[in-house]
Amino acid sequence: MKKFKRIKAYNKKYREELEESLKIINPYLIDAFTKYYGEEYKDKITDVISNIMYTFFISEPFLKVLNCYGSDISKHDKRVCKYYLKYLHACQMDELDKCIICSSLEKEDLLESDFIDCLKTNFSFYTIVSDDEEKSFYHAIFLSIFSISLKIIIHEINHAFMTEVVAVTKNEWITPSLFIYPECEELFNDYITNKIISKYDGIIPYALKKFRYVHKYEFYFSLIKKFYDAFEDVIKESIMIKNFNLLWEYAGKEDFYLFCSLIQKYYLQDGFTEEEVANLEELVLRMRVHASSIIPEDFDSYINELESLGYRVRKLGKDL
Ligand SMILES: [Zn+2]
Repeated sequence: MKKFKRIKAYNKKYREELEESLKIINPYLIDAFTKYYGEEYKDKITDVISNIMYTFFISEPFLKVLNCYGSDISKHDKRVCKYYLKYLHACQMDELDKCIICSSLEKEDLLESDFIDCLKTNFSFYTIVSDDEEKSFYHAIFLSIFSISLKIIIHEINHAFMTEVVAVTKNEWITPSLFIYPECEELFNDYITNKIISKYDGIIPYALKKFRYVHKYEFYFSLIKKFYDAFEDVIKESIMIKNFNLLWEYAGKEDFYLFCSLIQKYYLQDGFTEEEVANLEELVLRMRVHASSIIPEDFDSYINELESLGYRVRKLGKDL
């Protein structure tokens, strides 16, 4: 691998640039998430954001896409990108850890088969890593070089908040999803990400604005906007107190599940008609009616039940 010794120099430069950038944005990130979710969650937000384990890696699928379609990246970056691709091809399976530019995770964790699969197929992603005794877990974010931006970082961090961990073992972690289906969850996560970015009021280092991509998710925001506007407070509350039942009960489970499954379907079928949007809007209206029909006493007893289980519940101010 001698002929690829320049990779080392590139990696070192990236690592320093990215690590420095993360340090700079950390307080502004905490501030933006706090402004979005509410001052009462500041400690929790600070704790999660400050303890995230970051890994920077070289993602072959992403480099390939960039190599073919990345018309707005500089010639120099394109050359570096091709160089990385050649380097990855020269790597053998057992050298997969060479894709890792740097990580705050243990090397043994990184070489686990689940991670290897993810590194080979994903762009950037969020996951959970448990410690050896399976007593605690860490939020881990994997960022693929050439794609890292403030938006990607906020998107991945928000996954950490949107993930309710029910159980963790060394091999798997069980996490129900607030929006039931993975793509539906992604759409909402990305929509919320944009809201958090609008609250970000700080420096954005060059390394985090050099590459900016518009994800396919953005084309589907019109499908979820009405639901989000109607249930914004409950969504935030459910995420922060990690009780997804709150939103499900509020919107009415059956209609909510139907809504999520339709979103998932329209996203996967790569498009939607006006009629389909109208159907969704009707469904949102029905869920709003359901939410407003919840008898305050019923809801109070539900909240009491939550509080007796140790959840901190804030009464919602917004009239649905
Ligand atoms: Zn995501």
